[in-house]
Amino acid sequence: MSTHRHLKRALALYAIVAATVLTARTGAAAQPAGTASHATHDAIVNDAMYQLAITFYGGTLPDFARHDLPSIASGPSPDLAHWMFPFAPAGHSDPRALARSLLQETTFLRSSAPDPWRTFFANLLANAVADAIISSPFRTDIIAAMVRQDDRCFAVVDAFGEQTHQLFPFAAEAPHAGVADECHLEVATTLPLSYLATDAGEYGDALVPMFLIPGYLRYVIQHELGHTIAYWLETTRVDGAERLGQLIAARYAEATRNGLHTSCYGSRSPGEYWADATALYLSPLAAASLGEGDGNEAVTGAPCASGLSPEAAAMAGSKGVGSVPGAHLILLMQPELYNLLESVYGSPPAYAPARRESR
Ligand SMILES: [Zn+2]
Repeated sequence: MSTHRHLKRALALYAIVAATVLTARTGAAAQPAGTASHATHDAIVNDAMYQLAITFYGGTLPDFARHDLPSIASGPSPDLAHWMFPFAPAGHSDPRALARSLLQETTFLRSSAPDPWRTFFANLLANAVADAIISSPFRTDIIAAMVRQDDRCFAVVDAFGEQTHQLFPFAAEAPHAGVADECHLEVATTLPLSYLATDAGEYGDALVPMFLIPGYLRYVIQHELGHTIAYWLETTRVDGAERLGQLIAARYAEATRNGLHTSCYGSRSPGEYWADATALYLSPLAAASLGEGDGNEAVTGAPCASGLSPEAAAMAGSKGVGSVPGAHLILLMQPELYNLLESVYGSPPAYAPARRESR
C-alpha cells in the first residue's frame, strides 16, 4: 500500500482560500441552485481558485484567463477539463483513441460518481492512463493486466465527498489524495481541509475540491498509476537486463546517497520515489502539482517534507519551477533515473497549451 501526501507550500494557501469557500457554501446550502446566493457562491469559489492558481504558478497562469474559470457547482464542462489540465499532448500518436479503447475494452477504469461526473472522471482517468502508457514498450503488458483482472481490480476516481479507503479494500485510516496497490488505484476529488492545512481549526472536517490547483488531480492519478505499474512490472526485465524492482531500488539508493532526489515525497521509499518520478516524468510542469518544498518539516529518513527537494528547486530556480517540464528536471537531477523512466514509459510526452473546446 502506498499513499500520497505533499504540496506543503500550496497547501498553506488552502487555509485562507478554503475558509472563504466554506463561508460561501454555508450560505449557498440554504438556497436552491440558480438563486443570487448560488451565483455569489460560484463567484467566490472561482475567485479563490484563481488566486490560488496565480500564486501557485508564480504570478502567471498558462493560457487561461479569469473569466474562463469553471464553476464547481454547475457540473463538468469543457471549461472544467481545461482548467484542470490546460495542455494537450503533442508529438504522440493519438492518446485519446487509446483512452477510448481502454474504456471500451476494460472495466478497470471507473468512477463512483453519478453521471455526468462518472463519465467525466472516467474519461479523465482513461486519458491520464493513456498518456502514461502510449509510448511504453510494456504498453501491451499493462493493458493486458487491466483486461485480465477486470472485475477484481479497478482504478476509480471518487465521487465528491468520498474518501480513499472507503472504496479501497484496506483498513480505514486517515484519508489520502490517492492510494494504490498491484491491483487497485483510487483517487479522491475532495479532501478534508485538515489534510491540506494544519491550522484548519473548526473547518477541519470540511471538504475542499482537489482541482483547485490545475494539474493536481491528474498528477495524483499518475503517481498512483506509477505504483500499480511498478507492481505489475516488478519482476519484468528492463532493457533485457535487471528486473524493474531491482533497478528502482538501485536508483533510489543512489539518489539517497548522493542527494539526487527531485521530490521530497519521493525520498521516503523506493515505492514513493518511483511513483513521484512517474508523475513528474509525465507532467508538463514540474511545479504543476508539487510546489516548492520548504525542507523544514521533520520526516523520518527524508531530507524534506513535501514539494520539490531544495536541490531540485534550486536546479529549476532560474527558469522558475512553474515553467520546467518534470521530465527535464529529472534529467537534470538524475539522468540514470530519466533513462529508466524512458525505458519503461517511452519518451516523455510533449505538451502544448490546449485550445478550449467550444461550449
Ligand atoms: Zn505513493
